[in-house]
Amino acid sequence: MSEQARQNSLVVLSNRLPVTVRRARGRLEVERSSGGLVSALDPILQEVEGTWIGWPGTSLRPKERLPFRSAYRLEPLNLTRNEVRHYYHGFSNGTLWPLFHSFPERMRLDRRDWNNYEAVNERFAEAADRIAKPDDLIWIHDYHLTRAAGRLRQLRPAARIAFFLHIPFPPYDVFRILPWDREVLRGLLCCDLVGLHCGGYVTNLLDCAERLLGARVDRSANQIELGGRTIQVGAFPLGIDFEGFEGRARLAPEAQSPAEKVILGVDRLDYTKGIPERIHAFAELLERHREYRERIVLVQIAVPSRSQVTEYQDLKREIDELVGRVNGRFATHRWTPIHYLYRSVSPERLAALYRDADVALVTPLRDGMNLVAKEYVASQVADPGVLVLSRLAGAAETMYESLQVNPYNVDAVAGALHRALTMDLAERTDRMVALRTRERRFNLLGWLDSFLEAARSSHYTMGPPTDRDFEAWLARFLNGRQLALFLDYDGTLTPIVERPEEARFSSSMRAALADCVRRRDTDVTIVSGRSLEDVMKMVDLKGVTFAGNHGLEITGPGLEPFVHEDAVHFTDRARELARRLGRMRTPGVWVEEKGPSLTVHYRSAPVEQHARVAELARARIQEAGFQPRDAHCAIEARPPIGWDKGHAVLHVVRARYGQNWSERIRVIYAGDDDTDEDAFNALAGMGITFRVAGSAEMSTRATRHIPNVESVEALLRWLAQRPEGE
Ligand code: UDP
Repeated sequence: MSEQARQNSLVVLSNRLPVTVRRARGRLEVERSSGGLVSALDPILQEVEGTWIGWPGTSLRPKERLPFRSAYRLEPLNLTRNEVRHYYHGFSNGTLWPLFHSFPERMRLDRRDWNNYEAVNERFAEAADRIAKPDDLIWIHDYHLTRAAGRLRQLRPAARIAFFLHIPFPPYDVFRILPWDREVLRGLLCCDLVGLHCGGYVTNLLDCAERLLGARVDRSANQIELGGRTIQVGAFPLGIDFEGFEGRARLAPEAQSPAEKVILGVDRLDYTKGIPERIHAFAELLERHREYRERIVLVQIAVPSRSQVTEYQDLKREIDELVGRVNGRFATHRWTPIHYLYRSVSPERLAALYRDADVALVTPLRDGMNLVAKEYVASQVADPGVLVLSRLAGAAETMYESLQVNPYNVDAVAGALHRALTMDLAERTDRMVALRTRERRFNLLGWLDSFLEAARSSHYTMGPPTDRDFEAWLARFLNGRQLALFLDYDGTLTPIVERPEEARFSSSMRAALADCVRRRDTDVTIVSGRSLEDVMKMVDLKGVTFAGNHGLEITGPGLEPFVHEDAVHFTDRARELARRLGRMRTPGVWVEEKGPSLTVHYRSAPVEQHARVAELARARIQEAGFQPRDAHCAIEARPPIGWDKGHAVLHVVRARYGQNWSERIRVIYAGDDDTDEDAFNALAGMGITFRVAGSAEMSTRATRHIPNVESVEALLRWLAQRPEGE
C-alpha cells in the first residue's frame, strides 16, 4: 500500500458485515465471509484501525454483542423484518439489481420499498457520522447504499466520501426508467469519488448526471460539478487475488477428466448470467458438429442464490428442464453431455475445475465485471485453455484476448466454442499469456490501492464554466433568435451579503450586463423579491425591465406598467404584520417592508437562534394570512394571490411578443433562490433555466446547475459576445 493510502482511518459501509451471524438454538453463531473483497480489506482495516458498518444477517438484541473478536471494529446495523423485505429484497434486489443490469421488465416498483431504502440508507449515514473521525475516509459500497451519502453530506459537509459500485451503471435511457432516478443520482453525487468497473459505466454516469440533473460534466477528466462541488468519477476494474488462485491451481489434486475436452461454466444461479442461452449454444454446437458427440462435456456449476425468490425458483426449474431435454436428446449409454451441479464447490475443487477446463464459457447477459473469467485465467497453469467471454460483461472491456461473443446470439456462441475447441497450442498460449500478464499486474491489491489513493488525494475542483460550455448548452437553442433574458438579483448577480443594501454589482458584472442590454436582439429583465423601487435603484441601468416583489410590480421599456390588481389590498395588512414581527426583538432580526409583501431577515442573529426565529416568523406570517417562504437566512411573507416569478416572466414575454412568443423568441432565466423555482417550473420545456449554487441533494426544476455568481457573469459575457442573428 502506498503512503497516501495509509493515511487516516477508514470507515466501510456495506450492506453486509464481513461476517454472517445466525441464531441457532438461542445462541449466536458467526461465520466469516470468504469473498475476495473481504480478504483484501481485512489487512487495511486492521492497519488503520478502521470500522466496518453493515447488517450482520440476523437481528441482534439490545446490548447483545457479536460473539467474535475481529482485528478491527465491526459495527452491526440491525434491520427489521420489514426493512429486510423492502430495503433489501425490495428496492435493492428487486428494483435496482434488474434495472442496473438492463432488465427493466423485471424491475418491481413499490413505494414502500423506496421509503424503507431511504430510511435504511439514512441509518447507515447516521451510524457513519457517529463513528467516523473528522479526517476518516468513508467508503460506501454498492447499490444497496446509493442514498447514504446524501444524508451523510448534510451531517458532515466536509467529510471525504467515496463510493464503489460493484454492478453495472446502466445507460441513460435505461436508468431514467427508475421513478427515483434523480434521487439515486443525487445521492451518488454527494460523494467525492464514485468508482465503477469500467469506462462504459463511467460514460453512462456522466450522461445521466448531465441529462437528468443538468450537472456540468468534463468528459476528458471524468468530473461532474453539481451544487458547487466537483465529483470525480473513475473506472477501477476490480481484480482478483491472482497468486492465490494460481497457487491453489498448482496444488489441486489431479482429477479424472469426464471427456476428451471440458467446457466449464461457473455462475451464481441468476437471470443475468445467461445460463439457458449458454445451454442452447452448447446444444447447437452438438447439432452442427456431430464429431463432438461423446468427446466433449459442459460442466455447469450453478451456485444457489436468492433461492426464496419466486423468479429465481422459476429460473432453476427452467434450467433443470433444459439440461434434461439436451441430455435426453444427445446422451448415449456411455456419455452425458451436460454435467450440471446445483451447489457451491470448495475452493480446491474449483481450482482443479478451472485448471483442467479446456474452455471457460463465461456468457452473462450483463455483468458488472465477472470474476469467474479472471479466476479461470489465473488458474491456467498447465496446458492453456481458451476463455470465451460475453461482450456484455465488464471484464470484456480489458480482457481483449478472450474470444468475445454476444451471449444472446446462440449461433455465434456455438461458433466461438468451435473455434476455441480447435484452436492450436500456439494461439492458445499467446492469448492466455497476455490475459494472465494483465490480471497478475492489475490484481485485487492493485485495485484497492488505486481506488484508495484516488479517494484520499486532494479534493478535485473543476474550473469555472467556459465559453465552450455555454456554446454547447445554448448556441443551437438560440440559433440567432431574439432573446428574453431573465435574471434574479441577490445571489445571482451579486453575492449574498449581510445586509441587502450592501449587495452591489461588481464592476465587471455591471459591464457584462450592460453589454447584454445594449444588444438589439436581447431584452433583459431583472426579477427580484425586492420592492420594484429598491431593485431599480440597486441595478440602475437604462433599458432594463424590472419585476419587483416577486413580479407583483413590473415596469420596463415598451411595457404598460403593471401592478397586480390584488396587491394593493395587502399593503395595509403587510404593514400590520411588520409591526407584529417587529415585536420579536431578537438582536440581528429585522423586517424589510416592501409594500404588499415583506421579508424577515435573520442572518445577523446568533446562529443558534436561527431555527427558532424562522419558525416563529413562519407562524406569525401564516396567522396574518400571508404565505411564508424560506429564502437565504430570511423568511418572505407573500400575499396569497397566486402570483409568483413564473407568472411575472410569462406576463413580460406575452406583453412584449404576443401569445405566440415561443415561436418568436428564446427565453433564458438564471436564479439562485427557491422562489426562482416557480419560474423554472413555468418555463420547463419553454426555455433554458439555470440554478445558481445550491447543493447536490437539492431538487430543482432548472435545466442546468451553475456554481456561483462568477459563472453567471461568464454566461452574460458569452451572451453579450455571441454572433448576431441574420
Ligand atoms: N464461487 C463461489 N462458490 C462456488 C463457485 C464460485 O463462491 O461454488 C465464486 C467465484 O469464485 C467468484 C464468485 O463466486 O469469485 C462469482 O463472482 P462473479 O463476479 O463471477 O459473479 P457474481 O456472483 O458476483 O455476480
